[in-house]
Amino acid sequence: MKKLRVSRQLKNKDIYDDIKSKKINSIPLILEFIIIIISLIISNYSSPKISIIGNDTINLDYGKTYIDQGYKAEYINKDITNQVKVKGKINYKKIGTYKIEYKVKKGMHVTKKIRIIKVVDKEKPVINLIDNNKSNLCPNQQYIEEGYKAFDNYDKDITNNVKVIKNKDYYTYSVEDSSNNKVEITRKINYIDKEKPIINLIGQKTVYLEKNSPYIEQGFTTEDNCDKDLNNQVEIENNVNKDKPGTYNILYRVKDSAGNLSENIREVTVYEKGSYMNTSYNQNGVIYLTFDDGPNESTTNTILDILKEEGIQATFFVTNYGPDSLIKREYEEGHTVALHTASHYFNIYKSKETYYEDLYNVSNRVRKITGVESKIIRFPGGSSNTISKKYKLGIMTELVKDVQLRGFRYYDWNIDANDAGTCANASNKSNCVYKNVTTNLSKNRINMVLMHDTRYYTRDALRDIIRYAKANGYKFGKINMDTPMVKQRVFN
Ligand code: ZN
Repeated sequence: MKKLRVSRQLKNKDIYDDIKSKKINSIPLILEFIIIIISLIISNYSSPKISIIGNDTINLDYGKTYIDQGYKAEYINKDITNQVKVKGKINYKKIGTYKIEYKVKKGMHVTKKIRIIKVVDKEKPVINLIDNNKSNLCPNQQYIEEGYKAFDNYDKDITNNVKVIKNKDYYTYSVEDSSNNKVEITRKINYIDKEKPIINLIGQKTVYLEKNSPYIEQGFTTEDNCDKDLNNQVEIENNVNKDKPGTYNILYRVKDSAGNLSENIREVTVYEKGSYMNTSYNQNGVIYLTFDDGPNESTTNTILDILKEEGIQATFFVTNYGPDSLIKREYEEGHTVALHTASHYFNIYKSKETYYEDLYNVSNRVRKITGVESKIIRFPGGSSNTISKKYKLGIMTELVKDVQLRGFRYYDWNIDANDAGTCANASNKSNCVYKNVTTNLSKNRINMVLMHDTRYYTRDALRDIIRYAKANGYKFGKINMDTPMVKQRVFN
């Protein structure tokens, strides 16, 4: 191999010519020359070789540790890797360019290789916005910066470098770290107003007017979360005909600047002097017996028998339970068939829709049986119930207004027989019902009595209650569309 290379070298034309032209003919001289050439060739081939595995230049992410991928060294086909000396330090805490030197020495020959390690930061900084949900603003408010923080993996706190661009609907925050990694985020500012205004009526919610006397508006106040004063925006729809007895609604309507609509109703009853309307206004001492939750197969029949025998008419707030025949009998015997709800489950208060679905369900039942549509209703639990809070906050506030807009009249009570409450556990249940009713009767007001025709002890107390009332000069009435609504305070 070596000889072959030598002879190839010797065939090199230039050298040959050079030797020829200098007329070097002596053999020793030629030999000496050949030795020089050979030693030159050997020395050329005799430098150790280093090859590094992997790339010559490596980008190392800041925070990571460099792991050398290795190297190989050989000297005249012999592995001398273990003789390589590796030098070089990387400061992982500082971005920069570092060198790793691989060095091997063989005789007088030294071979070096360099690998470049660049510690780089490619990670973007992070901007954290302080957001206390104050970015939901009324349309007429201005956003006040709540603050922010910017942090970078390498530069640490760079909050002071953040640039803020303020637009009406959004703020843009941007920041760049020392390695030009840039981040930009936006804060959305929502100008929303979903809250309805409130109209508070001054004076009576139910007004009684003698025929021909003028209706005098008692006024109102308004409240709104965004708009300061909406009083001038209130529209009043007044259809009161002072010359025609009847019950009218005065509708108050206001929209805030975001378009949220709110309504309130004042009821005006125009009555003829000395007429039924007048007496219905002055119904002091009148007893309205009302029976909820029926009809019930085992109790309602007897209750109807007693009412018939005593010559008294009452009001039944029915459900979808019990036989149709009993609702038919109630109607045919002149009682008022009114609406409770179909299911009587309190989950009807989940939404306006679920409530009405249930109400119209029982309404359809009554219409099918009696042929008459009833607009007289009683909320399960009364309008003051708080159990509805479990299903939807504010549902009762919404419903008491809405049912009236739909033409319903709702009736709570001011005397509770407590037959669905404490009397159910009393030792003498009938006596408990009797006492609750008779001791609370008053001649200075309407007596709206809540009872349940589903209870046998109510049935058993009924005749005594009626007899007591009669003996004490009370009169009985059944609810009709002219009966003033008896309303409890709404808590939800
Ligand atoms: Zn009920």
